[in-house]
Amino acid sequence: MLIYVEKKAENYELTKEILNKFSDAQILWIDHYKNIFDKKIGNQKLTPAIIIAKDEHPNLLSVPNNYWYPGKSFFFRTSLNCVFDCEYCYLKGNFKTQYPVIFVNYEDIQNEITNKIHEIRNEWYQWQITLYASNYSDIQWLDSLSWFNNSFIPFVEQFDNVLMESRTKSANIDSILTVNNWIPFKNTEISFSLNPEKIISTFEKWTAPLQARIKAINTLVDKWYKVGLRFLPLLPIDNYEKIYEEFLNKLRWEIDIKKIHSIFIASLIYNQWDFKTMQKKNPNSQLWNFVKLHDNWLVKIPDEIFQKFSDLFKKTFPEKEIYYDFV
Ligand code: SF4
Repeated sequence: MLIYVEKKAENYELTKEILNKFSDAQILWIDHYKNIFDKKIGNQKLTPAIIIAKDEHPNLLSVPNNYWYPGKSFFFRTSLNCVFDCEYCYLKGNFKTQYPVIFVNYEDIQNEITNKIHEIRNEWYQWQITLYASNYSDIQWLDSLSWFNNSFIPFVEQFDNVLMESRTKSANIDSILTVNNWIPFKNTEISFSLNPEKIISTFEKWTAPLQARIKAINTLVDKWYKVGLRFLPLLPIDNYEKIYEEFLNKLRWEIDIKKIHSIFIASLIYNQWDFKTMQKKNPNSQLWNFVKLHDNWLVKIPDEIFQKFSDLFKKTFPEKEIYYDFV
């Protein structure tokens, strides 16, 4: 194991904890994480490594219109990259390395969030503010190293009408349960990305099996944690109508849906530039057969197929509002 450590990240508590955890690792001190992260170096499959860095410009990005929850919403990042290998993942298209980056200056990131929330509330905006934590990595998978839950879940509890969403394809919930001594928190929704097992095994390599995710969901909902279900990307594989119908019926049977906080569905979707990058990286992927270019320059599954998916979700979960992304 190799650990690249930015010199300016050296004195952070989290850096020390990670280095202690991997006391046998080879440590390389670097000036800036981008010197590694933005370069294609060595055979990264053979040499596992992580990068510890300081985010010098923590920033909240406004989400595009029609993205999940209505109202003011932002992406923020505490880490980059993901060990899972979903064939459609735009991170694989945009990032040059596979190494996870952990930003250790949580206090700076939290100050940025606090300032943004105060700024918005000072404009008399009273509705929900949503913070999306997991668009740059699967932070639940990484939590045993990053201690994200331990720091950020209690942090967001101080705010009124703020919801932080952490989305995952792992089934790793130990630190969620222990962060508040098995007492559910009100401002964080743990949402699980789900797809039929056939799609998981074909396109979502190394993610947790469907059954393990269902078990994690049930453990959390039984204790009244806020749990969301995310169905993305919906993929029209051969025989998809039957496969998804059976899959949703299985979920209906095995999960107490009325205890689920929210359900979101989304197409496989790219802007045309990301799509070209993804195609270049993996020209033979079957995924490109499922999508087409739309008038708004988005590449996604055909509208009539998305409509079929939407009807199926509404029919299976009539008691829940189904949220969409970029319909
Ligand atoms: S789990 Fe999410 S972040 Fe990780 S590879 Fe899959 S889509 Fe990308």
